[in-house]
Amino acid sequence: EKRKECPLDKDELGRSTWNFLHTMAAYYPEKPSEQDQNDMKNFLRIFSKFYPCSYCAEDFKRDLEVLPPVTENRHALSQWLCQIHNIVNEKVGKPIFDCSKVDERWLTGPKNGYCDY
Ligand code: FAD
Repeated sequence: EKRKECPLDKDELGRSTWNFLHTMAAYYPEKPSEQDQNDMKNFLRIFSKFYPCSYCAEDFKRDLEVLPPVTENRHALSQWLCQIHNIVNEKVGKPIFDCSKVDERWLTGPKNGYCDY
C-alpha cells in the first residue's frame, strides 16, 4: 500500500480542488434560477478569498476579474471553468486542455472508462 504524505501540498490541493470544481460545474443546473446564478458567483468569489494557497488565491482573484464566471447554464459554466483552469495551466507550464473534451472528462467519462489525460 502506497503511503501518503500529509498535510496536502500545493499540487495535491490543486488536483483535489479542480476535481471538485469541474464536477460541480458538470452538475450545475441546465436552467439555473437567478438565485442559483448569484449563489454560484458568490461561491466562486468567496472560494477565491479563502483558497488555502495565498499566492494562488491572489492570482485567481485577478483571473476572476479578467474572466468573470459565466453562470447561464451547465455548459456555459463548465466551459468557463475550463478556460480559467487553462489560464492557470499556462501560468504554471502545464498543457492546455482541449475544452471540447470537458463533458467527456468530467460528466460522461470516455467509452473505455479511463481518464488518462
Ligand atoms: P491539475 O491542473 O490539478 O488538473 C487535474 C486534471 O484536470 C488534469 O489531470 C486534467 O485531466 C484535467 N484538466 C486540466 N486542465 C483542465 C481544464 N482546463 N479544464 C478541464 N479539465 C482540465 N499551482 C501553482 O503552482 N501556482 C498557482 O498559482 C496555482 N494556482 C492555483 C489556483 C487554483 C484555483 C487551483 C485550484 C490550483 C492552483 N494551482 C497552482 C495548482 C495547479 O493548478 C495544479 O492543480 C497542480 O499543479 C497539480 O497539477 P496536475 O498536473 O495534477 O493537474
